[in-house]
Formats: sequence, C-alpha cells, structure tokens
Amino acid sequence: MIVDKIGRKFRNLRVSLTAACNYACDYCVPNGKRLSKASNELSANELFRAVFLLKKAAGIEKLRITGGEPLISPKFDRFLAEVMELGLEDVSLTTNGQFLSDKLSVIESCGIKRINVSLDSLNPVRFRQIARGGDLSKVMGGIDSALKAGIKIKINMVPMFSKNYSEILPMLEYCLARNIELRYIELMRMGHLASGNSFARDFVSMGSILDKIGEMYDFHRIDVPHDSTAQVFSVGENLGKFGIIPNESEPFCRACTRLRISSDGYLYGCLSSANRHDLKDIVCLDEKEALVMLEKKLIGALGDKKLSFQGETTVMKFIGG
Ligand code: SAM
Repeated sequence: MIVDKIGRKFRNLRVSLTAACNYACDYCVPNGKRLSKASNELSANELFRAVFLLKKAAGIEKLRITGGEPLISPKFDRFLAEVMELGLEDVSLTTNGQFLSDKLSVIESCGIKRINVSLDSLNPVRFRQIARGGDLSKVMGGIDSALKAGIKIKINMVPMFSKNYSEILPMLEYCLARNIELRYIELMRMGHLASGNSFARDFVSMGSILDKIGEMYDFHRIDVPHDSTAQVFSVGENLGKFGIIPNESEPFCRACTRLRISSDGYLYGCLSSANRHDLKDIVCLDEKEALVMLEKKLIGALGDKKLSFQGETTVMKFIGG
C-alpha cells in the first residue's frame, strides 16, 4: 500500500470519460464555448484497464464516473458494464442530468445505486445563464425518473453571490421534499477563477450558506467518515440532510484519498496541482510489468497532494469534477 508521511493513501478514483460537455458552466468555462473531446482520449477498454490496475496497485475501493459530461460519451455503456464487474465497494456517477432519463435503463441494469446531479438553479432563465446549455425541465424529469427507479440522488449546487445566492433556500426545500441530499459546493479557484476577480465576487463561504439556511431551519452537524469531502448537517426534526463541500472554509486536503484519471490517460493526485502522470503506455502492458511501473506513478501522484486547497489553473472539466 502506498501511503504518504501524514497517512494519506488513494481510495477514491474519479474517471473522466470525456472532456466533452453539453454545458459550458460559467465557473468551468471562461468563454462560453462548449468543449469537445480531447483528440487522444483513451478508449472504454483502456480506461477500464487503468481502473483494473489501479484497484490492484493502489487499493482503490470507490469509483466515480465523471467528465466533461459522462452521459454524452459513446464509451459510457461499455465502460460502466465493465467496471461493475470489478467488485468495487461503490460505483457512482456525476452528471448534469440532461440525458439521465435516456440512460436510466443502462444505469439501472448495471446496478448503479447513487447518482450526483449538478444543478445550480431551479429558475429556467438563471439555469441557462449559468449552464449556458441544456434544458432545466429535462434535468428535473431525469431526477424524478431516477428517484422513481429507487436510485439515491444527491444534487450538487455551487452557490455564487452574483448568480444563484437567492436559491440557497429554495434548492434546499426542493431537495428536502424529495428526500434528496443537497450538496452545496463552495466555489473553487480552478481554471479561469484562479486569477481575476470573479472568484472573490462570487465566493459564498460555508458560514454564509449556514447563515442563510438558519433563517428558515434549525440544523446540526453530524459525523462523517474521516475522508469525506462534505460536512453534513441534519435539518430540523428529521426533515432530511444537506452537505457542504467547504474547499476553502474547511479544506479536507489532509484527509484526501482522491485520485483522478483524465479522459486522455493522465493520473492526477491533487486538484491543486497541475502535475500529471501519463498512463497511456502502461495500460497496454502485461499486468506484472504494468503494476511495477504504476507504483512509481502513484508515488509521484501521492507526492503531488497539498496540505491545503490552493486552486489551480487546471480545469475541472479536463480532470473530472
Ligand atoms: N458534467 C458533470 C456534471 O455537471 O456534474 C460532471 C463534471 S462537473 C466538472 C463536476 C462537478 O464539478 C459539478 O458539480 C460542478 O458544479 C463542479 N465544478 C466545476 N467547476 C467548479 C468550480 N470552479 N467550483 C466548484 N465546483 C465546480
């Protein structure tokens, strides 16, 4: 097992199936131009092989499929079916939900039990202003269908002062009414937000989110696993739960167990580091040789982990949010 000086090891893997996305969220993409896939993306089989090897070499237990937008990738069905055979403790998905209804039968038949849907507004006009793509009613329809199918949904919302701050409470009400756990994600200084003043203008801290919720509800913090990215709160007398991912207010870097693979086959050990480790030549080697080489890359990736969240010019859409 590869462990660093403060006891961190890799346990959670995020695989970006594609860098392409049907949205161009304004905190993710600076110019509103939608992203297409990288020219040298790994195939479904190569990405599967990377996961297989990482499970052996790093002891990966949990996998999240992300992107870009994973549900628009032609690799999705095959990759999902293959990784479900690996016997991982948990396989989940992060999606913008636009094609959730269309893909639900594949998702259900493969046995996915949990999906995170990113949704920053319940107002159709504001939704389009932030996402710069997509159709709110399709996302909501997808959420309803997944809930009906018994899939557990979490919603990811990034509150921003100049955009959707007024929706902190309406979004919580929407989620509590449907037994959905809402996750507020503090805006991260990634990509174009790492410089300029839009981060400072829009950043809403965990304290501000809690103040807003406190205007309407009683809540208390509950225990979470040591490597959880979220602080979780229980609302009122059993009304439900919500979480906050406090990258800035309470960074979880010292307990981080995350590892990422970009769709073009690089390993990233830390969101606050642009360092990357090429896997492309490893995935086609035989297992013994691949594991020896992979160990060196994993030591490098673990060494990239920082002690506090610093942001990076690397963009989430490439390395998988
Ligand atoms: N397309 C999928 C989706 O929309 O969920 C997966 C990829 S997206 C990059 C994953 C998550 O990263 C989304 O919940 C998004 O809100 C979040 N994200 C991207 N950039 C961010 C930033 N600068 N700060 C906070 N969250 C960010």
